[in-house]
Formats: sequence, C-alpha cells, structure tokens
Amino acid sequence: MKLVSRSEWGAAAPTGSYTRISSTRGVKIHYEGSPVPDALLGDHGRCAGHVRAIQASHMANTSEGWIDIAYSFVVCPHGYVHEGRGLGHRNGANGNPTLNAGHYAVCAMVGTSGITSPTDEMLDGLVDAIDYCRSEGGRRQRSPGPPGRVRHRLPRRRPVRVGSAGRAQARSPPATAPASTRCSRATPSAPSPAASRPA
Ligand SMILES: [Zn+2]
Repeated sequence: MKLVSRSEWGAAAPTGSYTRISSTRGVKIHYEGSPVPDALLGDHGRCAGHVRAIQASHMANTSEGWIDIAYSFVVCPHGYVHEGRGLGHRNGANGNPTLNAGHYAVCAMVGTSGITSPTDEMLDGLVDAIDYCRSEGGRRQRSPGPPGRVRHRLPRRRPVRVGSAGRAQARSPPATAPASTRCSRATPSAPSPAASRPA
C-alpha cells in the first residue's frame, strides 16, 4: 500500500483528542461531494495540497465542530492512501457518533465535477485502504484472508454512480469485502442531518 502519513502530506494537528475505537464493522467509501480539480490527475504533487484543503475546510466547519479531517483515509487518483484520522480512531464522516465508530470512512478524490469517476489506480488504492482497515479494525469480525485475495477478486474497474443526493455507489460491491462495506453519505463538508454530532 502506498501510504502517505500525516506528516508527509502536511496535516495540521487535531484540535482535540480522538475517540479510540478497538474494532469496526467495516468501511464506508465516501466521495467529496464537491468539485475535484482535473489537474490532480496528471500531477500527484498536487494531491497533498488537496488533502490539506479538505482538512482545512473540515476544521473550519463550525456547525460540525470537527477536530480534524473527518475521514479515516483519503485515496488520490494515483492510488496513494493518505492517512486521515487513521486506524484506531473514530472518524467524523459517517453521520453520527455511532456510525462513525461503526465503520472507518475512506474518501475517494472524486467529486461533482472535474474528477467524477475513479481511476484504476484509485480503485486499487481503495482496496488497499479497505484491507488496511480490516487488518486492524476488522480483526475481530473476520479474517482478512491471504494477502492479495481481495484485490484479485475485485473487478478491474468498478463504476461509481454519482447521484444528485451526494452519494456514490459501487454497482457491485467487492466479493470478499464485509457485507457492511458500502458507499454512504459523502458530503461531510455540507450541513449534516440532525443526527450528526461534532467529533
Ligand atoms: Zn496522487
């Protein structure tokens, strides 16, 4: 996995303490729900800055009160997995504290314009991120299986349907991913439902 640590992408320090989690039910895949510049496609050098911008927008969102970037990980078009809140920490992107503790939140750098569908490298990075989350957070739920197993069973490319309600849905979920691995609410930067709480 091409992991980019927080220090490598230049993360700002969180403004509060993370809530620790010891296990999860799986992973939710998000998309940004806002424009993602096409310019990222040809220049991985821009990706760290894009992650910093996501973090800054989240931390400036006073209605959510996020202490950090809301996502657990962010995957760029080149397949690099940027560490957000990381493993063992409750995220802030799934809608409410229960959902945030129940699943890791992995965001793909696709949005409403510009980059609107994942590259093959991004899909590989998403699989890497899911495997990585399962290696820790899913340990108690199921065995991750032999290395590479999930990747080999995945279709080479899973089209993502972007709907008007800010959701991205894979048409066919990974064959060996947890049943609870699915796409979900993908616009944490937007006002969230009443059920949301700061995290
Ligand atoms: Zn990149």
